Amino acid sequence: MMTRSARSLLAHAVHDEQVRQRYWAKVARPSLDGYTCWPWVGSLHPKGHGRFWVGNLHTRRGPRDVCIIAHRFGWALAHGVDALDDVPVLAHACDEPSCQNPTHLLTSDWGDNLQQYRRRRDIPGSPLHDTRGPGGRACAIRDALLTGADLRDALEAGHSVLDTDQLNLF
Ligand SMILES: [Zn+2]
Repeated sequence: MMTRSARSLLAHAVHDEQVRQRYWAKVARPSLDGYTCWPWVGSLHPKGHGRFWVGNLHTRRGPRDVCIIAHRFGWALAHGVDALDDVPVLAHACDEPSCQNPTHLLTSDWGDNLQQYRRRRDIPGSPLHDTRGPGGRACAIRDALLTGADLRDALEAGHSVLDTDQLNLF
């Protein structure tokens, strides 16, 4: 939960052209057939979500960093900070936690999100199935984009034997 002063900092940040540019500078839009995600290439949370530094709050104990999950900041850019307050969980239809493509985001709640996760995690080839886990997958995608390595390879490197051999079984 955000403190009132952190929320006020965020409300200013979404209208600050420099902050907006700083956000978009960390969003990649790779051109890869059939792939429409916009991965975050900045700091990543261990669970694969992007982390965005909004700014410093000046407190009595000195400056305090305010960070937000990057796709939540993107949602606030698109829909306003008030709209963000009403969304307990901002889920990804694409199951890529670092994705910033606003059209891939779904408003959700904890129960619904868990149900969706259970429904999709066993689909062969799903990002939820990645053997590296969501954090490892997001790091591999980011690193490929930053170093110019093959993105398709980075996406497929986490496929389990079950995923890659699926067609041979039938
Ligand atoms: Zn996506």
